[in-house]
Amino acid sequence: MSKQIYNPLTKYHHDKFPKQTQVAPALQCEMTPTPDCGEKSYQGHGRLEGRKMLVTGGDSGIGRAAAIAYAKEGADVAINYLPFEQKDAEDVAKVIQAAGRKAVLIPGDLSDETFCKKLVEEAHHQLGGLDNLTLVAGKQVAVEDIMELTTEQIKKTFEVNVFSLFWLTKAALGYLKPGSTIITTSSVQAYQPSSNLLDYASTKTAIIAFTRGLAKQLGHKGIRVNSVAPGPVWTPLQICGGQPSDAIPEFGKQTPLQRAGQPVELAGVYVHLASEESSYTTGETYGVTGGMHIN
Ligand code: NAD
Ligand code: MG
Repeated sequence: MSKQIYNPLTKYHHDKFPKQTQVAPALQCEMTPTPDCGEKSYQGHGRLEGRKMLVTGGDSGIGRAAAIAYAKEGADVAINYLPFEQKDAEDVAKVIQAAGRKAVLIPGDLSDETFCKKLVEEAHHQLGGLDNLTLVAGKQVAVEDIMELTTEQIKKTFEVNVFSLFWLTKAALGYLKPGSTIITTSSVQAYQPSSNLLDYASTKTAIIAFTRGLAKQLGHKGIRVNSVAPGPVWTPLQICGGQPSDAIPEFGKQTPLQRAGQPVELAGVYVHLASEESSYTTGETYGVTGGMHIN
């Protein structure tokens, strides 16, 4: 039987979004509509059989979609998130377990170097190995005027989005073997920064440089490093200060595909970059932007 072909314009939610705000970090289980992270819609094909993977930001949004897809492809998955997000994380664990894989939940704050080290050690210990880091956690707070952008916010955004990548990678290198992969999460903002996301966009450009440089440094060890650069995707990040709340109803409408992406639409790229299918790919950034393009 042939598979149904969908129009990408109407495949997922394409109406206006209802206005909504939550305190950061928002909970996905309280969003309307609920983001599609592949709980039902993603179908695995055994491409990551037996892998042991750690996903930061794995409770919600894009990280959750990656974690669910990895499990459905046959991997055991540890996820990290903030303690406040326990409910979302438990929902993800149920989906991973229903796929017949092991789920490990490790809450904690990535802006703390000591915790980053512990996170990797704990994931390695509880999974019984580690061959992938999928670094998705991120902080985004829109501020219209640089004069209103506090040093505290600038520092926190860089700690979570950039510093943690150094700390987690350093902690993991003792465990990663040839064939292992690291996947970072950049953004279309690295290439086309919005005027109200100066600190965030700067971190996303830094992530591209980190990814390219680290890929060169680790190539000879057989460890590949790549990045995913999403465009506007319907996730908790956007409704807890990532966008001004007035921008929520039209979120994503400016793209050529005329709607926001759903997290599950990025899952296939994360799976590809972690799997054997991408064995000659390192130092690259894959855009999933609804047509905004990166470059
Ligand atoms: P999300 O809110 O679902 O995920 C962000 C996650 O970051 C949270 O779930 C939280 O667990 C984690 N996090 C934040 N601060 C943390 C901290 N101090 N310690 C530990 N974890 C922390 O939203 P998302 O949109 O899926 O975001 C995932 C990634 O995608 C981010 O890096 C974001 O920059 C990137 N991104 C998102 C979009 C978009 O439109 N949604 C576009 C481009 C890039
Ligand atoms: Mg979350």
